[in-house]
Amino acid sequence: MVTLIPVLGDQLSPGLASLSGRPADAIVLMVEVIDEARYVRHHKKKIALLFSAMRHFADELRAAGWTVDYVKLDEAGNTGSFTGEVARAVERHGATAIRVVEAGEWRVQAMIDGWAAATGAIVEVRPDDRFLCSKVDFAEWAGARKRLIMEDFYREMRKRTGLLMSFGKPVGSRWNFDADNRKTPPRGLNYPAPPTFEPDAITREVLDLVGTHFAGHFGDLEPFGFAVTRAQALTALDYFVAVALPTFGDYQDAIVEGQAFLYHALLSPYINSGLLTAREVVDAAAAAYAEGDVPINAAEGFIRQIIGWREYIRGIYFWAGPDYKKSNALSATRDLPAFYWTGDTDLRCIAQSVDQVRREAYNHHIQRLMILGNFAMLIGVEPAQIEEWYLVVYADAYEWVELPNVHGMSQFADGGLLGSKPYAGGGAYIDRMSDHCGRCRYNVKLKTGPYACPFNALYWDFLARHRDQLKDNSRLWRMYDGWERLGAERQAATRASAAAFLDSLPTAAREWAVDAGG
Ligand SMILES: Cc1cc2nc3c(=O)[nH]c(=O)nc-3n(C[C@H](O)[C@H](O)[C@H](O)COP(=O)(O)OP(=O)(O)OC[C@H]3O[C@@H](n4cnc5c(N)ncnc54)[C@H](O)[C@@H]3O)c2cc1C
Ligand code: SF4
Repeated sequence: MVTLIPVLGDQLSPGLASLSGRPADAIVLMVEVIDEARYVRHHKKKIALLFSAMRHFADELRAAGWTVDYVKLDEAGNTGSFTGEVARAVERHGATAIRVVEAGEWRVQAMIDGWAAATGAIVEVRPDDRFLCSKVDFAEWAGARKRLIMEDFYREMRKRTGLLMSFGKPVGSRWNFDADNRKTPPRGLNYPAPPTFEPDAITREVLDLVGTHFAGHFGDLEPFGFAVTRAQALTALDYFVAVALPTFGDYQDAIVEGQAFLYHALLSPYINSGLLTAREVVDAAAAAYAEGDVPINAAEGFIRQIIGWREYIRGIYFWAGPDYKKSNALSATRDLPAFYWTGDTDLRCIAQSVDQVRREAYNHHIQRLMILGNFAMLIGVEPAQIEEWYLVVYADAYEWVELPNVHGMSQFADGGLLGSKPYAGGGAYIDRMSDHCGRCRYNVKLKTGPYACPFNALYWDFLARHRDQLKDNSRLWRMYDGWERLGAERQAATRASAAAFLDSLPTAAREWAVDAGG
């Protein structure tokens, strides 16, 4: 009896549940399908990263004794879809059973759920145990609660994993050391350059393929320096723990022009695709703390991002169900401005963030949340359009992690299921956290008029527009109090300034994001 084991592009882990307990006649199936590369027009670097990592992983499995059937994108007969390729492989190998790990998103899981009917094989779907909190455990945690507060979930996860715990208590006697983090970096700080990896022959072949088939997609393909093997990803992890982690927390929210990465980990593309596991990453940080190599604020801050935020976000995605993305709590309908694709805008903070993501397929958390997401929410971009943008541009973007972060945290489109208030901010916040404003054509200190930073009037306009919905939010009353104190005349001037700016916005050529077959 031949068992087919399809391994998806974000399942590149030797310890994957479907690869344990090897059946006698097992064939691993890996496929590069055009449907997945084009259902949104992913950044070229992201496609290259995944195809190259898949090809390297297939070779590693072969070296470990597996029979691997690998279908390349341009191979004759490739149907271009997961289901089409699984059906072809079942026929090719006479397989009677399929064993697969559950998909990371609803869309792909629906395909897997159709494989038994499409192929006639018996399909076994195994839970993805690379996550530290199962869907069942998350549902149990969420079940009885009125509010799904991340900090509560995180403390539960600390207890459950035993990370940074001593005799049932958090080490350092505090759960959260954020108060020690988020300093303003001194001028001229010497930031570590993250490791990059020279493309080998396999990666070069993939770069040619992506350059040919996905030329119309967003982003620069080269220079390409991502890790594409587990060994390289482990090198990136070692480097982060030794060099950047000790200062990770201190400047976590800072934005410095010309410094894309600061002390961030740059590990999300590797964890999300499976080259690294969440557990080994947090164990490495905890071990460095235990050795006295990193301070507690850094180790705790980093571990919270992984066992707290990352697991919580994934829990919400599956707990909220496939319809989560359909809500639009703030009734936002505006088209995404074209400059999210081109970077062609006088708003320097946006232009710089877009330029960076075009080159690197990366922005750090505060750029994503407080510049790009904040602006989209303030101007009222339709959630589906901004969500598609996030899914396209980042090398680490998969719907399970992109959607709750964008729909919930950044756009408040879920009405507060995930965040207790909208992450809205004016120019003063961006000025405090970045060095953009001093070089911008707008003046961050001005509130109204053509030279004023647009974030300022837009922020008040946003609060005024959504007053009925948000005014009773206990975390916003101070803001509404400030709005009232402005008085009728300044309120009118502020809203007129916001309206003039909104009228001047260009809208996006939507074909940038929606594949037109190019
Ligand atoms: C609007 C918005 C969209 C986002 N979209 C994505 C996405 O598509 N994919 C993605 O992996 N992350 C996303 N994030 C979370 C976060 O911005 C990235 O994980 C982080 O910037 C990745 O870079 P890093 O590895 O240098 O992370 P660091 O800042 O060094 O953090 C360490 C690790 O913590 C994890 N992490 C931290 N915050 C989150 C979070 N909110 N959700 C999930 N994991 C987290 C990541 O695995 C990350 O590698 C998004 C955040 C926002 C606000
Ligand atoms: S002044 Fe306003 S638009 Fe310009 S960089 Fe600062 S926050 Fe952005």
